[in-house]
Amino acid sequence: MDTAGRVDALMEGLRADLVRLAEIPSVACPGFPEEPVHAAHDLLVELLRGVGVEHIERIDLPGTAPVIFAEIPPPDPAAPTVLLYSHYDVQPAGDEKLWLSPPFEPTPIEGGLRARGIADDKANVIAHLGMLRAYEGRPPVGVKIVFEGQEEYGSPFDAYPPTDPERFACDAMVIADLGNLRPGTPTLTTGLRGAADVIVEARTLTEPRHSGEFGGAAPDALLVLLKALATLHDVHGDVAVEGLWREAWSGAGYTEDEFRELAGVGEELPLMGSGTLGERLWSGPAITVVGLDAPSVDHATSAVVPYARAKLNLRFHPRQDPREALSALVEHLRVLRPYGVPLTVTPGDTGPGFEAVTGGPAYRAALDALACAWGTQPAYIATGGSIPLVNGLARAAPDAEVLLFGAQDNLCNLHAPNERVLLSELRNTVVAMCAFVENYASRAAEDRAKTNG
Ligand SMILES: [Zn+2]
Repeated sequence: MDTAGRVDALMEGLRADLVRLAEIPSVACPGFPEEPVHAAHDLLVELLRGVGVEHIERIDLPGTAPVIFAEIPPPDPAAPTVLLYSHYDVQPAGDEKLWLSPPFEPTPIEGGLRARGIADDKANVIAHLGMLRAYEGRPPVGVKIVFEGQEEYGSPFDAYPPTDPERFACDAMVIADLGNLRPGTPTLTTGLRGAADVIVEARTLTEPRHSGEFGGAAPDALLVLLKALATLHDVHGDVAVEGLWREAWSGAGYTEDEFRELAGVGEELPLMGSGTLGERLWSGPAITVVGLDAPSVDHATSAVVPYARAKLNLRFHPRQDPREALSALVEHLRVLRPYGVPLTVTPGDTGPGFEAVTGGPAYRAALDALACAWGTQPAYIATGGSIPLVNGLARAAPDAEVLLFGAQDNLCNLHAPNERVLLSELRNTVVAMCAFVENYASRAAEDRAKTNG
């Protein structure tokens, strides 16, 4: 039987295991019980044993849920080793009233299943398992499995992997914690924007003063702050801070209609910024005001506001140095003197972006594998959200090719009510994982034959 046929024969079992896994509310956030997280861990260990994986370890890092680490040695010493990453913890369900069915009762919907965490990231865990089943536990490459138990909150994976490089050594890694641009479009994610936070404050008076007696001359801290915030973008809504990289985007992207639908922007409103959506969302910067401290309208008094502050979230080009990007924004704000008033600017946390090196043997193998699984050419995209663990793993294995693909799609409602996954996307992802290890192993063998011959 060919690969796709073998996978089709496995789908019923994989669907059943996905349901079992998604029934467990494995939320690894403060205030949620630990038992379900451990139950999900135990179920996955059982499933890995069931497919014949012998070497399974549990890594307990301080204060976090256990990581499942498993290893299948390469079938011959020259075969490459592939690391497979996904996570078994999930986001909290949020307001259950917004769900059409109970979040931890996986419910059939047209073409798929609905449950919290079923797409992010349990379908991808099951996709990895499916590949192993298709090869009865003996894939044509060496495999290292990393199923993290605490990705959604306080992940140790941005810092831990580089401290244990031997464990994470591999030739390629498949980080399956995302998916396709849209259902039916196989997608490789090649870039992730970096992120940084900045807090900016304006203090003008020692305390509020009567706006009738003092307004007009006493400096208004809220106006000062708003004037500063208004300098961050130009009239088109493009970021106007110097020193933040912006490049043309050469990969695939959303159509404007798709983006409006996903973002919930009505037809009557314009979008912000100019240029392609790829450039605005992925290869250019974004600055969002994510919080503002000022008197609320309900509690407003007729007084000049003495103090106001805002929290800004900056997203920057995948390759830009986080310190450089952060200081571009900080310096922009520090030199401003709205109405002559200096601001207090406090840099916050940064997370680097990521840009995959494309064109290597694993990359080419993955492109062919995705094309074969979906029957259409893969798209390249980036994502605006950062995934810190990608950098952690890439630093641990700096020479490994990093591949980002998986069973999710843009309509999965990740982190939102009514999360869902499509079984066609899961099936195609399993086929793609199989085709990938197969292609990669044979290319590596051909390359060796060439070098030896
Ligand atoms: Zn995830």
